[in-house]
Amino acid sequence: MAHTCIHWFRKGLRLHDNPALLAALRDCKQLYPVFLLDPHLHNNMCINRWRFLVGALKDLDCSLRKLNSRLFVVRGRPEDVLPKLFDKWKVTKLTYEYDTEPYSLGRDTAVTALAKEHGVQVIYKISHTLYDIERIIEENNGKAPLTYTRMQALVKTLGPPKKPVPAPTVEDMAEVKTPCSESHEQQYGIPALEELCPDAAAQGEEPFPGGEQEALRRLDEHMKRTRWVCEFEKPQTSPNSLSPSTTVLSPYVTVGCLSARTFWWRLADVYQGKKHSDPPVSLHGQLLWREFFYTASVGIPNFNKMVGNPVCTQIDWDTKSEYLAAWREARTGFPFIDAIMTQLRQEGWIHHLARHAVACFLTRGDLWINWEEGQKVFEDLLLDGDWALNAGNWQWLSASTFFHQYFRVYSPVAFGKKTDKNGDYIKKYLPLLKKFPAQYIYEPWKAPGSVQQAAGCIVGKDYPHPIVQHELISKKNIQRMKSAYAKRSSDKTDSPTKKQGVKRKGPSVVDMMKKKEKRKKSPSS
Ligand code: FAD
Repeated sequence: MAHTCIHWFRKGLRLHDNPALLAALRDCKQLYPVFLLDPHLHNNMCINRWRFLVGALKDLDCSLRKLNSRLFVVRGRPEDVLPKLFDKWKVTKLTYEYDTEPYSLGRDTAVTALAKEHGVQVIYKISHTLYDIERIIEENNGKAPLTYTRMQALVKTLGPPKKPVPAPTVEDMAEVKTPCSESHEQQYGIPALEELCPDAAAQGEEPFPGGEQEALRRLDEHMKRTRWVCEFEKPQTSPNSLSPSTTVLSPYVTVGCLSARTFWWRLADVYQGKKHSDPPVSLHGQLLWREFFYTASVGIPNFNKMVGNPVCTQIDWDTKSEYLAAWREARTGFPFIDAIMTQLRQEGWIHHLARHAVACFLTRGDLWINWEEGQKVFEDLLLDGDWALNAGNWQWLSASTFFHQYFRVYSPVAFGKKTDKNGDYIKKYLPLLKKFPAQYIYEPWKAPGSVQQAAGCIVGKDYPHPIVQHELISKKNIQRMKSAYAKRSSDKTDSPTKKQGVKRKGPSVVDMMKKKEKRKKSPSS
């Protein structure tokens, strides 16, 4: 039977390595590539995120046009919109990329039930992660691994990730039509940024434009730097270089303009036959960190919260809204912290170690504010804002889960100096401080009045005094962490079992053959 199919783009905003899109094209006479502006996901996004998304959608539409197709952008809740489209277009098949976020899982269950009611076959494929995350958990006796070493051992038993599948070609689309009316632009066109975002007029430069073509271009550019790729060690990169010292592919991987598996295999090609760095510090290692946190997010209940999260240390965080606002709005009085928060707001991306510095400062280091608050701010402002990675890394940095050396605190003064003595990064993002001599740029409150005068910036008037005394408060906070750890019962450090009673023994060859056979027969992934 020739199908009329909706391929539903959510993440996975790309044509390359898109197995669900290829599944859509199988036995297909009509294809409707659809993107939904879902109020749950897209309301109240900041200008940078809107701009990135609109860029990605425009690029996708452009690529689809080259295949004689178009993107259909529709507004509304998927549960409301899709059944109407099923009827309107007489749809028989729906395809999409599998998504492990709790909201997405609930949404997809509801949509699948509605599709069934409308006689629509549903096919999903796994391509947002390197592996099938459920399979990793199964391999670990139903539990999410809590250490990277364990994660490495598990993926070793699974073998390398699947190779990416090619993008569809004009030939693949020869028999497939996308019915477009003259009013396509009005009905299903990509809305203008100005219409979506009230702040659109206030946009600054766009250092990271969205889109699959841009993602692949950036990937190509990095992969040409063979030596850099082979020698890459994350801890040796700098939080405060004036241009990024890591790939900045994260925004593209997050919304799926770039497939993680394509990234992985391009790295493997570069490594081939050469001496290269290894996980956890290599670029392959970074992609495994992503996989690690995805696995944790699937296996651990309430992963983005402290309460109800069985592996998260319960801490008596303070509620200090004025401190939180000062941190969020780059008014802490610590130039290194404020410069990072300014870069985050302006550009939507900051280096991993810069994230370390501001996350430690907000939580266990200085302000003693719950990591969930920082998570929300990052989610709002980061172009790469990712449910699983954001929650996992915030737990790590606040020494709530995964990482337990709470006595190792980042200094908001000394840490930045290690890689930027002159404070050029601070001068770039806080031009108000640019006339301070290097000696005082990290601690302008220590500059004599005459120096402040000469710099044209008086601390307490033009730039705030530091909101805490780091040396004192960090020591006090270490003691508070010590008490929280003392209260933590030892059994809480164990990962919860996802499926009770699943104790995995090595599968027999017969089992494996049966499973393979079953998979072949099953229409979905
Ligand atoms: P590269 O070093 O070039 O790494 C390549 C890819 O590996 C990245 O694009 C990313 O997909 C993955 N990766 C790298 N580091 C990590 C890591 N620590 N954990 C998981 N995956 C990683 N990353 C996000 O993508 N989304 C988030 O919402 C997010 N929130 C974070 C919150 C905090 C508090 C911290 C400390 C880190 C967070 N990270 C998040 C992880 C990391 O900082 C970014 O992935 C990385 O800085 C992105 O820059 P890059 O692409 O240049 O990374």
